[in-house]
Amino acid sequence: MTSPSVVRGILDELGVRPQKRLGQHFLVDFHARERIVDALDLQPDDRVVEIGPGLGALTQRLVELCGDVRAIEIDRALASFLREHFKGRLQVYEGDALEADLPDMLGPAGKLVGNLPYYISTALVVRILEAAPTVAVLMLQSEVAERLSAGPGTPQRGALSVLREYAAEIDTVARVGAGLFYPPPQVGSRVIRLRARKAATLSSWPQIRPVVQAAFGYRRKMMERALEEGLGTRREVGRRALVEAGIDPARRGETLSLAEFDRLAAALGALQER
Ligand code: SAM
Repeated sequence: MTSPSVVRGILDELGVRPQKRLGQHFLVDFHARERIVDALDLQPDDRVVEIGPGLGALTQRLVELCGDVRAIEIDRALASFLREHFKGRLQVYEGDALEADLPDMLGPAGKLVGNLPYYISTALVVRILEAAPTVAVLMLQSEVAERLSAGPGTPQRGALSVLREYAAEIDTVARVGAGLFYPPPQVGSRVIRLRARKAATLSSWPQIRPVVQAAFGYRRKMMERALEEGLGTRREVGRRALVEAGIDPARRGETLSLAEFDRLAAALGALQER
């Protein structure tokens, strides 16, 4: 599966035409595949979950390296090809990765990998961060990868940046040109690695996530307005929580650090309990 003509030939045999609406861009480069799989540092007794295996370009290497490989593929023809091709070496879940129970599939120490379908990559990354695999290696469009790394006060800063900072360390594994896919996507891609963080001293994910999403859902508004519109928090309660957290209520969400979001989530939680 390291040339466009081989991939095209298999797809033709299966009667599958790459569908844009499913983000079907198949990896046709041996070196990129090796770098992605190497970044997982797989051990024989690891469990790994793959999102969107397609024709199995990454999967082939995964099953060679470890004994518990699970994959989620939405395309029926591809899912049945994978079942047939990998026989008992791969558990294939046919369905939408956005609806899959990722924590259950990962178990306590699972790793995750995927050349993600770009049309849902943001939503998928939020679910992946929430499921907290020990390591996740993901191919993403460069713009999403940049948002994941963006610090406070930068134009790319968004909910994804703060939630990523909360849940995981990030590093770049590779930059990948469009020519390494069949058919080529219209955007540049990047492979990133996420390593789960132990966030024991911070607010819990269910506390912090809605606050972060409200702040960036109304990013042009001052924080007190964003909390009111995004969470339905009464203006005076929001203002008080912001002041208690040491944040000027007139600031905008993109200027807040993770530590400030954490203090704010805790202050809101405490006020709502009173
Ligand atoms: N892993 C393969 C590779 O690298 O060649 C294929 C990657 S392709 C970018 C994305 C894959 O995700 C396709 O196989 C597509 O059918 C699958 N897919 C699209 N939407 C999905 C969804 N909601 N849930 C699970 N798989 C999905």
